[in-house]
Amino acid sequence: MEHEMRAEYEESGPPRADAPVKIWHMVRLDGAHAMCGRELDPAAATQSAEAWGTPAGEPFCHSCGAMYLREHPQDTG
Ligand SMILES: [Zn+2]
Repeated sequence: MEHEMRAEYEESGPPRADAPVKIWHMVRLDGAHAMCGRELDPAAATQSAEAWGTPAGEPFCHSCGAMYLREHPQDTG
């Protein structure tokens, strides 16, 4: 697995453990740079890329989704 999901929060600054997730982005495992170009906090919550497309992964970033599916067409089900 080369990717994981990383959270973007409504609030700026270091993320709190109970902060509401604004949106989930897809990032490469070696960084906090989302596929859509957004820089995410390295301390932000992450979850397995397997959550992509499931209720656990919503709301998700459509820009990241388009790019992720382009790289992983076999994952579209
Ligand atoms: Zn994104």
